[in-house]
Amino acid sequence: TLKAAIDNADYVLPDGAGVVMASKILGSPLAGRAAGFDVAKELLALLSKGEKRLFLLGAKPGIGQKAAEKIAGQYPGVVIAGIQHGYFNEDSEVLDGIKAARPDVLFVALGSPRQELFMQRNRKELNAVMLGIGGSLDVFAGEVKRAPDFFIRHNLEWLYRLSKQPSRFFRMMKLPAYILRAFAWRITGRTGK
Ligand code: UDP
Repeated sequence: TLKAAIDNADYVLPDGAGVVMASKILGSPLAGRAAGFDVAKELLALLSKGEKRLFLLGAKPGIGQKAAEKIAGQYPGVVIAGIQHGYFNEDSEVLDGIKAARPDVLFVALGSPRQELFMQRNRKELNAVMLGIGGSLDVFAGEVKRAPDFFIRHNLEWLYRLSKQPSRFFRMMKLPAYILRAFAWRITGRTGK
């Protein structure tokens, strides 16, 4: 399950305005979001110094190639070890290719929860640092624009993304219920475990 994947992960980052809001409601406020895209960029800056091997998994066919070109241009030290689009059926279709590329770091851009479940299933087998980055390969490739700074600074990136992609509305309807549940946990003293 998604919960098991999150509970077992080596690190979990608050990539969403809802988690940050819930942390405040529950009395242990997080400093802010750590968006997958921003963490990916920080990591690339580090990798660039060490000539590390990066594998890009996810997004539509062709997007990974474009993202790789942009990344190689901006972070000259990064070695692109391999690219695989995210529209496969079984993990076994892609695992050999990833292993053969011997990546130090694997960006997993399959969207949520598919990417979390993929990482959970394959963490033992793939000896790489894995980072789930949602739609970030589309952004690296230049196909999708990140929200303007104003939206990001005011915790409104979700609103911008909703306006660009109204189909996100239904998945977002879970958020008000999540926030209400945070209030309920606050009142009852439960932590949600
Ligand atoms: N995607 C994929 N395989 C799938 C479904 C989605 O590679 O089976 C990709 C999709 O092309 C996009 C990303 O996963 O690049 C999901 O983007 P989204 O912004 O929806 O990410 P989320 O907000 O779910 O993390």
